[in-house]
Amino acid sequence: MKKPTSSLLLIFITSISFFTNAQGQTIDQVIKPKESLAHFRFLASDELKGRDALRSEIDIAAKYIANQFWKYGAKELSNANGYFQPIPFRLSQPPQSALIQLDTSLLKHGDNLLMMDGGSLKGKFELKIAGYGLEENLKNIDLNGKILVTRVGAPGKTNPAEILELGRKKQQWAKGKGAIGLIEMYHLPNTPWGLLTNYLNKPRLTIAESFDQPSSIPYFWVKDLDGKLMHFIDQNKSVKAKISIESKGNQLIKGRNVIAKIEGTDAQLKNEFVMLSAHFDHLGVGRVDAEGDSIYNGARDNAVGTVALINAAQYFAQNPPKRSVLLCAWTAEEKGLLGSAYFAENPLIPLDQIIYNLNIDNGGYNNTEIITVVGLGRSTADPLIKEAINHYGLKTIPDPSPEQGLYDRSDNVNFAKKGIPAPTFSLGFTAFDEEIMKYYHQPADEVDSMDLEYVMKYWKSYLLTAQKIANMKEQPFWLPGDKYEAAGKSLYGY
Ligand SMILES: [Zn+2]
Repeated sequence: MKKPTSSLLLIFITSISFFTNAQGQTIDQVIKPKESLAHFRFLASDELKGRDALRSEIDIAAKYIANQFWKYGAKELSNANGYFQPIPFRLSQPPQSALIQLDTSLLKHGDNLLMMDGGSLKGKFELKIAGYGLEENLKNIDLNGKILVTRVGAPGKTNPAEILELGRKKQQWAKGKGAIGLIEMYHLPNTPWGLLTNYLNKPRLTIAESFDQPSSIPYFWVKDLDGKLMHFIDQNKSVKAKISIESKGNQLIKGRNVIAKIEGTDAQLKNEFVMLSAHFDHLGVGRVDAEGDSIYNGARDNAVGTVALINAAQYFAQNPPKRSVLLCAWTAEEKGLLGSAYFAENPLIPLDQIIYNLNIDNGGYNNTEIITVVGLGRSTADPLIKEAINHYGLKTIPDPSPEQGLYDRSDNVNFAKKGIPAPTFSLGFTAFDEEIMKYYHQPADEVDSMDLEYVMKYWKSYLLTAQKIANMKEQPFWLPGDKYEAAGKSLYGY
């Protein structure tokens, strides 16, 4: 291979910056401050009451985003419901009261008992122990009219996310075998009972199986750290549980992601999609702050990212890149990354056609000379990200506090797990310091406390980055050794 002469190199470098400059100028012509800020002020307004996925104002936000996608010329997906992907959510409410009497032990909700799910129930019921309550444990046992008693989690599955996911499955399996309830004995020392039950003992949103009204059997956790209760039941097979629950029951909530696409210009590459995503929900109305404000506007988190998607609809509809662009505004991120999780499991575009996910989400900023890209240093698209951000006179830094696990705490992770390279674009932060905490998940997170000139540069950097990646010659991929590299290879068949 011949080394390029310095003059060739110079031509090469100037041609890169020539393209970047031309694209940057087009972005300047299309994306105007007043128009973008009008979207921003609307989405972060008090009238939308903090865009809580459990409040009706979330529908106003969703419709607004859909209308902007339509106005600017982004298209509906043929397998969606207009610009929407409907999602069945289930809201589980803590019971008014729940008591279980087991011989001489009285178990009380909020104390040594936690009712996780299900409706009212009263009576005396037979108990049946079956290991961890996994499908193989339930094969040859009769659960009809009985309460299934199991250990929480499964061997090797002991972290909170795993045991919650597994618990919901056990509940379905038990119900399928005719059980009228499920008790999981909690014995895990690594997550304290008090911490976990405090977190869980409030209304919780999860993804439901379907849009049918949820019907589920009562499901409990019982504190049994030393295993004594489990042992007692095992030794006294005839003991019955006297149960009394007054429950508010569960509620079906209809949620929606907002989805649109812009077709690419290249006959081949248009079958590949660069997914641009941002969650549009926030925390709603809550605790009053020192100023008497109780509306969590979520300007930084994440109206600013939502406007980046609206700007992308406007810019790319007029300037489509070679690859197609998929615009995804997720609901219910703040309830546990639910909207993106639903799409990852029910994708409207096959996941192996989505070659990259440029997510945008924000806690806040403490430095207006940089943009922080959580996940920088993990894919082959990095040089393009830096080039685009550099065009606006800003520097790119990676996640400054990897110990916070931000990469695995935002919507991007639902796609990274599937193998799609998926960084998150964020306003410049160098640490989770006092300046960030002033606004992070606070009522003070409002448009007027932000540096709007910086916000304009931030929006434009996002567009230029997206454009470069959508025009990349090679498909971007994980750098060797990344923990999601194997998932990527299996997704794309490398
Ligand atoms: Zn966020």
